[in-house]
Amino acid sequence: MRFSSLGSGSEGNAWLFESSNDQASPTRIMVDCGFTIKGTVARLDRMGLSPEQVNALIVTHEHDDHLGGVFKFSRKFNAPVFLTHGTWRAALRTKRTDAAYLQTGLVNLIESHQAFEVGSLSIQPFPVPHDALEPIQMLVSDGQYHVGILTDCGSSTPHLVRMLGKADALILESNHCPDMLLQSPYPDSLKRRVGGNYGHLSNQTACEILRSLVGGKLRFAVAAHLSKNTNDAKLVRTMWNDILAPAGVRFGVACQENGFDWWNVRDILTADNTAQA
Ligand SMILES: [Zn+2]
Ligand SMILES: [Zn+2]
Repeated sequence: MRFSSLGSGSEGNAWLFESSNDQASPTRIMVDCGFTIKGTVARLDRMGLSPEQVNALIVTHEHDDHLGGVFKFSRKFNAPVFLTHGTWRAALRTKRTDAAYLQTGLVNLIESHQAFEVGSLSIQPFPVPHDALEPIQMLVSDGQYHVGILTDCGSSTPHLVRMLGKADALILESNHCPDMLLQSPYPDSLKRRVGGNYGHLSNQTACEILRSLVGGKLRFAVAAHLSKNTNDAKLVRTMWNDILAPAGVRFGVACQENGFDWWNVRDILTADNTAQA
């Protein structure tokens, strides 16, 4: 299984997962789509994929940087959409879709605790504290490896840490530096929202989660959803390196413009085994 990002941040998000490419027809899913059709197609092209190769869209929640392009993409390329009941209701309110879209058969309503399958990939969603109607994040598995995603989450919970303990690789939000947020020109209400328990993960909370995962299965991590105004990728790299380097866990940072190039989970684990041999 391999995964990549088409872009990550408050201006748009999309993650790609592809089941093992030694299969005749690998399954490819896109988690969230916060870009225009044109932007999404161009970004997919950069990853060597055509839009028709995306088998399904999974939506984490209704915020525009995640939902903005979902239904346009689904309609144009006939791609099924998987989302919770709450996110569907919220999507109707945003007018990004309408109730008639249910008749296309492309809408799949899911439970926030119930695993489901798309082709040869299995998705285990879990609920997260974020200011949306029924937000989820998830583990994606090809039966052999697990990749976890956790962005758009205001605080850590024992349940989500337990879920992420199964992940060989993890995409983890490191949204803001609390000091930079405090000193930013954002209105107080926005500072409270972003920094609150239903907002976004600070660098510190992301590091706490990483600390609780090192020493377990985790071999690779990607820092995601970094704020352009209230964070600094260099700072995140330093903080992550302090925790992950001693444990031999490699990491990267996904950015808004270029996302993150393909990472093959098997290659990551094989490289680790070779290094240990
Ligand atoms: Zn977001
Ligand atoms: Zn959000």
